[in-house]
Formats: sequence, C-alpha cells, structure tokens
Amino acid sequence: MTKIFDDPAQFADDALDGFVAANRQYVARVDGGVVRSTESPAGQVALVIGGGSGHYPAFAGLVGAGLASGSACGNMFASPSAGQVYRVAKASQAGGGVLLSYGNYAGDVLHFGQAQDKLNAEGIETRTVLVTDDIASAPLAEIGKRRGIAGDLTVFKVAGAAAEAGLDLDQVERLAIKANHHTRSLGVAFAGCTLPGAAEPLFTVPGGTMSVGLGIHGEPGISEQPLPTASELAKLLVEGLLKDKPEEAGTRVVPILNGLGTVKYDELFLLFGRIEALLTGAGLEIVEPECGELVTSLDMSGLSLTLFWLDDELEEFWSAPADTPAFRKGNLAPRKARSVASMAEAGTAPALDATAASTALAATAVDALKETRAVVVEHEEALGKLDAIAGDGDHGIGMRRGVDAAVAAAEKSHAAGAGLEELLAAAGEQWAERAGGTSGALWGAGVTAVGRTLGSKDSYTAADAAAAVNALRDAIITLGKAEAGDKTMVDALLPFADTFTRAIDDGGSLATSLRAAAEAAAKAADATAGLSPKKGRARPLAEKSLGHPDPGAVSFGLIARRLADYAATIESH
Ligand code: ADP
Ligand code: MG
Repeated sequence: MTKIFDDPAQFADDALDGFVAANRQYVARVDGGVVRSTESPAGQVALVIGGGSGHYPAFAGLVGAGLASGSACGNMFASPSAGQVYRVAKASQAGGGVLLSYGNYAGDVLHFGQAQDKLNAEGIETRTVLVTDDIASAPLAEIGKRRGIAGDLTVFKVAGAAAEAGLDLDQVERLAIKANHHTRSLGVAFAGCTLPGAAEPLFTVPGGTMSVGLGIHGEPGISEQPLPTASELAKLLVEGLLKDKPEEAGTRVVPILNGLGTVKYDELFLLFGRIEALLTGAGLEIVEPECGELVTSLDMSGLSLTLFWLDDELEEFWSAPADTPAFRKGNLAPRKARSVASMAEAGTAPALDATAASTALAATAVDALKETRAVVVEHEEALGKLDAIAGDGDHGIGMRRGVDAAVAAAEKSHAAGAGLEELLAAAGEQWAERAGGTSGALWGAGVTAVGRTLGSKDSYTAADAAAAVNALRDAIITLGKAEAGDKTMVDALLPFADTFTRAIDDGGSLATSLRAAAEAAAKAADATAGLSPKKGRARPLAEKSLGHPDPGAVSFGLIARRLADYAATIESH
C-alpha cells in the first residue's frame, strides 16, 4: 500500500519536488522533470533518460555527473509527454547533441519519438537507444520487442560515462547500443503494487506462489510457480539468463540484483550469495556487482537479476566514476553549480485570431469535451480493469487524466476568447501531456488534428465534419502506426471513420451520421475480443488478452456513442 500523500493525483509531482529539495546539490527541477544542477562541460553529449514515476531510483535518481544529464518524469507508471521530454532535453543539452535512452514501452516510444523529431527539427541533433533487457517479454528472435527493466542502469551508465569522457554522439550511441545488446534481465514477483489512492493492488500473486517474468509496471508475469527456496530461486534466475546469453559474451560479467520495492536488503544479500556461487561455478568472473534497489515498482514485492556481459570498453565505462543522488562510483572533481537562468524553458505558442462567431462555436467543443469526460469518468474503473487483464491497468486513470486536462485547457482557452482551432490545439496538447500512456499521445494528436482541419471559421458544413473525422483517423494512425487487426483503438476508429464518411456522403445529418458511426465503432470494439494484440503493452501477454476486448477500442466506442447522443440533443434544438 502506498500511504503517504495529500492528493493522490499530485503524488508524482509532489514526490519529485521533495526529491529535488533533498538532492539540490545534484538536481534542479524543470518543467517536465529534472536536470543536473551543476555545470556540464560545453560540447558534452547530453544523456536524457526518463519514464513513468514510481520506479525510484529510476529515473531522476540517476541524474548527475558521469551519468544522465536530465530525466523526463511522467506520471505514476506513465510515459512523460513529448512536451516534457522536449523541455528536459532542451534544458539538459550542452551543445554536443542529445541521446535519449529509456525502456522499450509503446507509450514512451511515441512520446520520446515526437520529442526527438522536434529537437532534430530545431537543429539539436538527437538519437535514441531503447533498453530491451527483459528476456521474459519476448523470445530472443524478437529481441527488439523486449521491454526494458533494471538493465537500463548498464545502458545509462555506459552512455553517461562515454559522454563524460568527451566522446561524440556517434560513439556514445554506439556504446549504448552495445551495452544494451550485452544486458539480460529476468524478474519475479511475490505480490503486486498499489498506486497512490487506489484501493486494490494493480495485480495480485496467489499466496504461496511466485510470478515469473513480471514487468516493472505490474504487468502480470508469464508463469506462476510455488514459492522456491533461495537456492532454487538463484538457480532459476541464473539458468534462465545463461540460456539467453548474448553470442559475443565473454567470461567477465556484472550481476545486478535489483529489489522491486519491498524485498529486504538482507534477503537480497542472501540471494546474491547464492547467485554469485552459481556464476563462479559456471566459470564466470564477477566484476563490480550491484545489489540493492535500482529500478523499483512502488511497493511491489519482487526482484530481478540482470547480467551485463563485459568487454574491455564496456568495462572501462561501467567502472568509470559517477556522482548522482542514487548511484555513486569512484571520484569526480567537484562541479560548479549551474545558474537557474540557464535552465531554458520552452515558450508558449502565440494566440491565433478568432472571430466572435468562431469563439461562440468553440463553446460546442468545450461541451463535447465535457461529455467525453463524463463518459470516461463513468467507465474509469471498468477500463482500468480491462487494461489490467493483459496490459498495465492504467487505461481508465490515463484517459481520466487526459480528458480532465483537455477540458480544463479548453475552458481556459474559451474564457480567453480562442477560436476552435486554438482551443482544440490546447486541449489536445494537454491531453497528451497529462495522460501519459500510449492512448493519451494518440488522443492528444487526434484532437489537435481535428482542430487544425476545422480551423476557426464562423460556420461548418457536413463535408467539414467528414474531413475532421478523417483527420482524427490519420493523426492516430500516423503516430501509432497500428493497422487493422492489431487489436488497438484503430480497430474501432477505422469503421467509425468509414461509416461516418459514407453516411455524410449519403446526405445524413451530423447526428444521424455520428449515430451510425458510433454503433459501428462500438460493435467493432466488442469484436476485438477475438483478436490477438500486436501493438502496445498487451502484446507480450497475447493469450491473456484473447477473449477480452481491447481497452482503447472500448473507450473509443463509448466516447463515440456519447458524442452521438450529444449531437442528437444539439440537432433537436
Ligand atoms: P499504455 O498502453 O501506454 O498503458 P493506455 O493503457 O492508456 O496506454 O492505452 C492502451 C490502449 O492504447 C490500447 O488498448 C490500444 O487501444 C491503444 N494503443 C496502444 N498502442 C497503440 C498504437 N500503436 N496505435 C493505436 N492504438 C494503440
Ligand atoms: Mg495501459
């Protein structure tokens, strides 16, 4: 149980503020996360890491000399938004380019990817290295689909040390990729974790059993077995990892035994002793190991073992000094404090002109967003439960956070006299910014695209409505790259857009066309129960998902139906 907070919705932000207050000699707060509070040499590559909050010391605890330059900190277990990543990278970069590195999760890939595009477009050269160490999340043949867990420490450490040594972006990127290829992890869980304010854990492990292959967001494990002894557990972890050893592995290895939140250090040390005996017995030489909490999942009871296979250059950068709140090694010369003014903040977009008629029409968009919020609130818990079956359980809370922020932004824009385009741009940006997950990025991009297509005019035709629906579809597909049958919201979106366009072409009114389209979307959402997921967090748990509809498709169908109801009430006036 996570017990200490005032407002659970503010947990991540409040905890981050306190973390910065407690570690001011290392880190400073910027909009979106933290950056080093000390000067970095001009021209140094900036390693920018990040991910959801709730994993301390990942990710903010690893910011400091010899390691990361900045960390984008999302909400609890949710990806930071593209805006957050962009702002942290801008405040971190020192003229040598930016390396973004983070665990391979769909939401993070979307948001960090958008930030990377924006940074490159501005002339700040930015590359990405994904961490894919979790051997339980996909077979070796599909290593690029594996998710990242505690192995991210080796990748960050090597990249950060290479940047500290003055290597250029090409070299830092090359070494990070190599470190990732040389890193394998396997985790187990004994009990789930509870999000602040939640009454129940995200998942549970039956008493007397252990779940093998858990993810750090509480995604259920891939198999369950009776609770082993320490020696049996050591054997399971070591044998599992040795079977998956990289081809180019030598005989020098760094074992990292990571506690996920509530396993005691004494237990970790006991287990480490057993692990070390097995590794030595297998003829391996142990180099500078780690045993403790490095990537946690709130109060999850569980642990993971990472093996990092060294060669000469990886060993040099693993052993190099680092000085961060949560990870220290060797000695570095003291750093000068950085001035607060130098921590650049991203500017706000200029206001667009809007006529009085367009401003009045924008009120309809505020009401439509409020209807969307109402239906999300009604189904928040059910959507969370549906996502917990094969995903990470955050679809309800993510949609809630996104739509709450979208409504607040829309109301503020409306009060300031914005037209439809500007209002929907603000709503979409805030949706993506606050929701965190994959669906948040997609809905945010979709809402913004609808605004861009409609513009801020004094009146609209049926053809404008069809163009807006097509823009919604195109934005979501361009960003998420999902295809029909991948078991995502796209499976509801495609029939929605097709039916709507056809109904409008046939001379239907907005309300009747929307009704037909919403029914098609809801029906298609139900039918996703028969599909196997190919995208998103549910993909590694395909069998568990079978028989249950996709949460993003279901929420899309619910929202479409509610907006059809709303359109009917306007048209009848
Ligand atoms: P996350 O997957 O980051 O936890 P959510 O739980 O809020 O985010 O949303 C999950 C939903 O997002 C899925 O049910 C699916 O409908 C949708 N989704 C995931 N990946 C994609 C994608 N690439 N394209 C379209 N929709 C996607
Ligand atoms: Mg989810």
